[in-house]
Amino acid sequence: MMNVIEFFRNLPKKHCTSCGNVIEEKADCYGNVCDECDHPAR
Ligand SMILES: [Zn+2]
Repeated sequence: MMNVIEFFRNLPKKHCTSCGNVIEEKADCYGNVCDECDHPAR
């Protein structure tokens, strides 16, 4: 069985569906939008 971490490493970089910026790996929990577009204060 593939290691979960390796699975995510092999994924292509995601792009924000709102502005098109590349989403950092740390932002996996945000889904398909980048940190700025997902900012709750905006
Ligand atoms: Zn964005």
